[in-house]
Amino acid sequence: MSTHHHEHDHDACRRYLSSLSDYADGTLSDDLCRELEAHMATCENCRIVVNTLSKTISLYHQLPEPEMPNAVKERLYKVLNLDSYSAAPGDSDSA
Ligand SMILES: [Zn+2]
Repeated sequence: MSTHHHEHDHDACRRYLSSLSDYADGTLSDDLCRELEAHMATCENCRIVVNTLSKTISLYHQLPEPEMPNAVKERLYKVLNLDSYSAAPGDSDSA
């Protein structure tokens, strides 16, 4: 019933998040690649992020702007349930 079949520490995901884009872009160092792959072996969230990033990167390599779309960033943060991203609309408790 729970989507979390593992007790997973998302602090690790936060740490890896900045490396994920480099990993997907193929610019991450070998050491970090191995570290990240070891983490991804047990973390479906990060696998999804890398998979999404890979698609995004192959897309934006064909586009003039090298920026990752905000929608993608927002999605990544949502995947990892990060609370540091607060630009999601309709998520405030105003009223
Ligand atoms: Zn992770």
